[in-house]
Amino acid sequence: MPMKLYSTNHQSPLVSLKTAVLQGLPPDNGLYMPQNLPPLPGSFIESLKPDKSFQEVALTVATHLLGDELSAADLERIVNEAFFFDAPLVNIHDNIHTLELFHGPTLAFKDFAAQFMAKLMGQYVRESGIELTILVATSGDTGSAVANGFLKVPGIRVFILYPSGKVSPTQEQQLTTLGHNITALEVAGTFDDCQAMVKQAFLDNDLRPHYQLSSANSINIARLIPQSFYYFRAYAQLPDKSLPLVISVPSGNFGNLSAGLIAKKIGLPVSQFIAATNVNDVVPEYLQTSIFRPRPSLATYSNAMDVGNPSNFPRMLALYDENIQQLKKDLNGFVYTDAETIAAMQAVYKNFSYILDPHGAVGYLGLQAFIAQQNSALNGIFLETAHPAKFGQVVEHALKQKIDLPPALAATLELPKNATLLENDYDALKSYLLDIA
Ligand SMILES: *Cc1c(COP(=O)(O)O)cnc(C)c1O
Repeated sequence: MPMKLYSTNHQSPLVSLKTAVLQGLPPDNGLYMPQNLPPLPGSFIESLKPDKSFQEVALTVATHLLGDELSAADLERIVNEAFFFDAPLVNIHDNIHTLELFHGPTLAFKDFAAQFMAKLMGQYVRESGIELTILVATSGDTGSAVANGFLKVPGIRVFILYPSGKVSPTQEQQLTTLGHNITALEVAGTFDDCQAMVKQAFLDNDLRPHYQLSSANSINIARLIPQSFYYFRAYAQLPDKSLPLVISVPSGNFGNLSAGLIAKKIGLPVSQFIAATNVNDVVPEYLQTSIFRPRPSLATYSNAMDVGNPSNFPRMLALYDENIQQLKKDLNGFVYTDAETIAAMQAVYKNFSYILDPHGAVGYLGLQAFIAQQNSALNGIFLETAHPAKFGQVVEHALKQKIDLPPALAATLELPKNATLLENDYDALKSYLLDIA
């Protein structure tokens, strides 16, 4: 039976994967979720050994979830093109491991999601012969992960809007040096202005004859599903699978953790998840009080997790059929300040010579705290969501030493910036798009 997706608000019709992916959001403003998440065969879980490659693992899980919607050959091509980098499991000490999710082109875990979504959309474009135009507003990292995913995908053009002077120099280089089918638009305004311009473009009837627009939105289901793949790859690499497994996920919008819960639902043997956050602790608070209290975010060192209204929260509840007690059984919340984050980075470097980025440090702390509460031995994995060089200033402040840029990032910093300046005004975007159409 082909996969059907429902809206978490239950006021929109069931749709196919293709519709959900190209539409992004259901008309009732909920979030798309797969209607059925059947378990994988036990033989697959037993077959998960360290030498099973990321692509092999991903293809089996992708076929299980999406195999009725895409041909075997197409899925294999999408998986192979998207996942040209691995997620290595690295032992830190005892039974504590980190899953390094920063080996993709932009050195953060969002590469997994962005690559898969882009190649899947590329497949839909190839099937239908349409030309697709992606408009995306970014405050920094998401835009470059998305742009890298779509880089050189035939039939798709990408326009990234970013706020002038409000992204880091490194991020700006990552956004403006790709070329090919990627165009960077530097807007003399804020991130919110960029987002408002993108929204208005989607509603503009004058653009419709010239562009088929899509959003590559951060809550697109095509970004959630591939994030479940690396949990299986992590398990495959565990040297000793006899102990119960706890996975700690440093979280902001909770897409990463939602994907982990999906992995568990379809059969990955995980006994506990940890929702580890900085002081933006809406979800850990919810797990204590059962009250969801979104509020403005606070700035922290782990700034990719500075989220005051976690957008994937309805998906977590939906996975548990809104049964809060059951969710609480599987999920523990822990909250850390910047001072605690820095102290963890220092301790792990001093004791184990491993450099954590501030997000991974929050994940490590949550895992440690949970394990300290238990009486029995456990396997622990925390996710390292970014390369420490991406947060070089914080890392250098914590460890009092320079951190080397990975070669790919260093090379990007040398490339010429290529961006088109736009006034902070929707008409500027509109006439730009109409001029080049
Ligand atoms: C986006 C991001 C997170 C948060 O992930 P969510 O899926 O939003 O919870 C954590 N760390 C880094 C480095 C990120 O870029």
